[in-house]
Amino acid sequence: MPELPEVETVRRSAEQKIVGRRVTAASVRHPGILDGVSAAALEALFVGNTVTSIGRRGKYLIFRFETGEELLLHLRMTGQLIAFDDAFAGDRHCHLVVSFERGGFFYRDVRRFGRFCVAGTGGKTEEGFKKLGYEPMDREFTVCYVKEGLADRRCPVKARILDQCFIAGIGNIYADEILFRAGIHPLRRCDELTGRQIQRLKKACETVLLEAIEHRGTTFRDFRDGYGETGGHQEHLAVFHRAGEPCLLCGTAIEETKCAGRTTSFCPKCQKR
Ligand SMILES: [Zn+2]
Repeated sequence: MPELPEVETVRRSAEQKIVGRRVTAASVRHPGILDGVSAAALEALFVGNTVTSIGRRGKYLIFRFETGEELLLHLRMTGQLIAFDDAFAGDRHCHLVVSFERGGFFYRDVRRFGRFCVAGTGGKTEEGFKKLGYEPMDREFTVCYVKEGLADRRCPVKARILDQCFIAGIGNIYADEILFRAGIHPLRRCDELTGRQIQRLKKACETVLLEAIEHRGTTFRDFRDGYGETGGHQEHLAVFHRAGEPCLLCGTAIEETKCAGRTTSFCPKCQKR
């Protein structure tokens, strides 16, 4: 599933191809990708309109139109937003095509869990969007904020940092990478973390995500940027998907466990319980 670095990579690449160009045609091929808006209404929103910017909050993309409307997109598992220059023939997984005078972009989604939602129309997508916590690059994401968010909670720290209402943008890959960087065991209880560990956790959230953005996200299978290219951060992962391989710091074999229903990788020596 695309996490903050992948969605930011899509945002940056899509922005260059989409912003400032007038839409000449739009076609929804599968209304299952829409939440709280009809295919006709979404097509009408696009045609004749121009996207003036593409923003991002957590794992959501925000298309802002010159007419003032905002369109939210959550890519979920396999959503891809890809710009094209010439004619686009399409495939059966392509559910929305938006055209400019020359070129355009399409939304492709093999599993069709991704959702488009016009802000103000009250879909479930928007409800999740409104509840988002701060993200690690926000000025408000302070040690104090993190400390308060962990206080009195008995759940494992990994489960907590996956909660989008607390920290927006972290999913399974980066939760494992962040906890390794901070030297904290994923099953460690939130209310048992020391002040120093909380400081390291706060810092690791920011640095790990920034490094992944720099490498243009992680591709295991489905993730593509706005040009259809894979990311490069899979070459830099320290623990995720590395069970049985030696820790990059100490050489101990990386172990796997379950946390919050998710496969969780950690180094038993660098991340003591
Ligand atoms: Zn280690």
